[in-house]
Amino acid sequence: MPEQWKCTVCGYLYDGSEPPPRCPRCGADGARFIPRERVSLNLLYDLKASFVPHAVASHFPSGLIPAALLAMILALATGRGAFDTTVFYLLILAWVAVPVLVVSGITDWRKRFGGVKATIFYKKISLAAVLFLSGGCAIAIRLSHPDILQDDGILHGIYLGLVPLMVLCTVLLGHYGGKLAFQWKKRTW
Ligand SMILES: [Zn+2]
Repeated sequence: MPEQWKCTVCGYLYDGSEPPPRCPRCGADGARFIPRERVSLNLLYDLKASFVPHAVASHFPSGLIPAALLAMILALATGRGAFDTTVFYLLILAWVAVPVLVVSGITDWRKRFGGVKATIFYKKISLAAVLFLSGGCAIAIRLSHPDILQDDGILHGIYLGLVPLMVLCTVLLGHYGGKLAFQWKKRTW
């Protein structure tokens, strides 16, 4: 009678009458697998059982921040205030998602990776910290200087630099997140 087995380290689900010798995702020993009742073909149930808050949360900054950069380029090119306002609101939306990203990421690190002390997790936490600080600075500059895009002082330069820095952080966070999600067992980082 076929069964489904669950890796207690990473949550990987395996179909078969016996658990696999090693977890194909995280490499844990087969003894770490426990039998699991087969999931019903209920989409909502499946969604709830497999929902990964960190994967969802991470798509907010990685979608919104490049859009903010594009709006900033358009604001500079056209001089239209609407683009400048768009940059501001996109940055705020992305920035409030960062704490959710950090909390869900650390929860995942503890649950799925047993809180293992690997450089990749410290890189991700550092990048999230840089993202949060640069986003906070950009928002603070824009709040205190509403015409910052039209100015030409040092603050203007900093404001222009912070958004590409945030894009770089989200790209690298996505890069390492992808490695963790798809290449954990290969350990190629
Ligand atoms: Zn596993």
